[in-house]
Formats: sequence, structure tokens, C-alpha cells
Amino acid sequence: MKIVEPSVFLVGETRVHEPGLQAYLAHVGAPDWQTDAPSDCERISEVMGRLCYRSFEPGMNPNVTRVRQGSGPYLENILKVGHGSVLEHAWLNFIFADVSRVVTHELVRHRAGTAVSQESLRFVRLDALSAYVPMHIRESEEGMEVFVRTVEQLEEVQQSLAKLFAIGDEERFSEKKKLTSAFRRVAPIGVATTIGWSCNIRALRHVIESRTDPHAEEEIRLLFGKVYELVRGRYPNLFSDYEAEMVDGLPWVRTGCRKV
Ligand SMILES: Cc1cc2nc3c(=O)[nH]c(=O)nc-3n(C[C@H](O)[C@H](O)[C@H](O)COP(=O)(O)OP(=O)(O)OC[C@H]3O[C@@H](n4cnc5c(N)ncnc54)[C@H](O)[C@@H]3O)c2cc1C
Repeated sequence: MKIVEPSVFLVGETRVHEPGLQAYLAHVGAPDWQTDAPSDCERISEVMGRLCYRSFEPGMNPNVTRVRQGSGPYLENILKVGHGSVLEHAWLNFIFADVSRVVTHELVRHRAGTAVSQESLRFVRLDALSAYVPMHIRESEEGMEVFVRTVEQLEEVQQSLAKLFAIGDEERFSEKKKLTSAFRRVAPIGVATTIGWSCNIRALRHVIESRTDPHAEEEIRLLFGKVYELVRGRYPNLFSDYEAEMVDGLPWVRTGCRKV
């Protein structure tokens, strides 16, 4: 048995199509508009927000005499007033590796603004098992012994079943799939696996807030603590309202602008 921790890989993010954006800005009468947004996700969010009131420059809309300058102040106000739909335009693509089926089962409950591709344990045969060991178990010598022994026994069960049904000699993929699916039923829910998870920024904020909460499960708190660290550094203006407090050794990410 291998002991693992969730890993977060940001593998994609929304990108501005420069000629298209410049053409739109010329069309709307703001050809010289620029922003200091540190990322394209922040830039897209700002553009989508500003187009609502034509607030690229004062005077474009006769009702608007002043505009907020800069990505930071602009997006800070979007968060403050709860104009969350603006944050649905920018998408991020993550791969979470070495996460348990406990985590993936919780994660897929978040449906709005997300997309999921999950490693298939009908196709991918479990020969060796990896698992995250929760804090209470980790801190107990006896608990650790029971945990590791049990996972190792279940690993042996996978190997015994594979031998019993001679899956290694099976040529037909459809049969291998049926057998692999039958064997996985005796794998633990803590088995580590992989999930591809994409989301828009609005959905991500909601998931960070709910899944780093101290009432959430330890492994998903750890996972979204890591996600938070990554996105806070990369898209600072989309998470500028967040504050993190350590609870039980994991960050609890909080904001006064809940559920934007
Ligand atoms: C600490 C914790 C404990 C939990 N315990 C349990 C449990 O014991 N049992 C259990 O079954 N689940 C549990 N959950 C899961 C929880 O009930 C939600 O299913 C999960 O957090 C997904 O969040 P969401 O409903 O906000 O959906 P998301 O898909 O993240 O949606 C975001 C928001 O969009 C809106 N929305 C989404 N879908 C709809 C819709 N169909 N209709 C109207 N509005 C919609 C809602 O405002 C929603 O909050 C728990 C979650 C947490 C964080």
C-alpha cells in the first residue's frame, strides 16, 4: 500500500483572443482601453462586467461620469456587490490526482458551473492500492496499524481475484472490463484515484468556501486548501476578499462576500 496526499494540477485556463477583443473595443468606441489585470481570467471577467454598463471610459454611457480604474478595484467591487454572473465566463481546468473516492463523491455533488471526467475503475484495474491516511488515524499507532493492514489485505484481495479469474490471460476487453468492475467492489472507498475537474470562477469560489469550512471532510479541505493557494496566487483580483485562518491544521477560507 502506498500512502498518498491529493495533488492539484492546473492544466488549463481561459485565454483572451486578442484580435477579437481589440475588434470589440473598437466597435464599442473604446479602442485604447487597457487593464492591468494579471491574468486573462481576470481580464475576461472585467470586460464582461464593463460591457454591462459601457463603463470602459467615462462618457461612453451618458449616465456614467466616473469609472473604476484598474482590475483590482473593479473586481473588488464586483465581489462586493455580488455581480457573480460576471465570474462565470472564465474557466479553469484542474486534474486532481491521488484523491480518494470519498473526495470525488463529494466533489461531483457540485454541479453548477463544473465539468467532470473521472478515472474509470471499470477500465483501470486496481492492482496496487494507494490511500490518504486521515489525521486521527495517522496520530494513533494502533489506528495506523489497523488502517494499513486492512488496505494491504484489500490489495491482496484484488490480486487474488485477478489470479483466480486469470484476467491477465483474458484477451477480450469486454470480459476484462466486467471482471475489473466486479473486483473494484471490494476496494475501499478511500482508494486513491484521479479526477479531471473544470469550473468557472463563480463555482470555484462557492466550492472553496464550502469545502474548506471546518465542517467539511478533512481530505477535501486539504485539496481545496491547495486549490485556494494556487488560484489566490495566480488570479489575485478574483479572490482578493478571501482570508484564510488555520483550523485543525488546514486553511478555512472565508469572505464577507459569500456566495457571490
Ligand atoms: C460540510 C458539508 C456537509 C455535507 N453533508 C451532506 C450530507 O450529509 N448528505 C448529502 O447528501 N450531502 C451533503 N453535502 C453536500 C451538499 O448538500 C451539496 O449537495 C453540495 O455541497 C453541493 O453544493 P450545492 O448544492 O451548493 O451545489 P452546486 O452545484 O455547487 O451549486 C451552487 C449553487 O447553485 C444553486 N443551484 C445548483 N443547482 C441547483 C438546482 N438544481 N436548483 C436550484 N438551484 C441550484 C444553489 O444556490 C447552489 O448552492 C454536504 C456538503 C458540505 C459542504
